[in-house]
Amino acid sequence: MMRCLFCNLKFEREPGYFLGAMYIGYGLGVGAIAVLAATVWEVLKWPVVKSTVGGIVLFLALAPAPVLTWVARVLWIYMDQAIDPDRT
Ligand SMILES: [Zn+2]
Repeated sequence: MMRCLFCNLKFEREPGYFLGAMYIGYGLGVGAIAVLAATVWEVLKWPVVKSTVGGIVLFLALAPAPVLTWVARVLWIYMDQAIDPDRT
């Protein structure tokens, strides 16, 4: 079981613990793509569908896949600790 070196927090409290983080990651990804697509649409005046594809391409080019997963997991841990603190 992995624990934080600094505060001794258990990272994976139970099997499948980070499943919920996937939903956060999905939301963050969709949100980021929407912002990028809107930017492409505004700047280049492309049609909406083409701008959306442009937003997805930009997202894949700008955001290395693991970053979104890390951010989502950190947010997930903060949420979980706020609701149900691990005092062990
Ligand atoms: Zn820690």
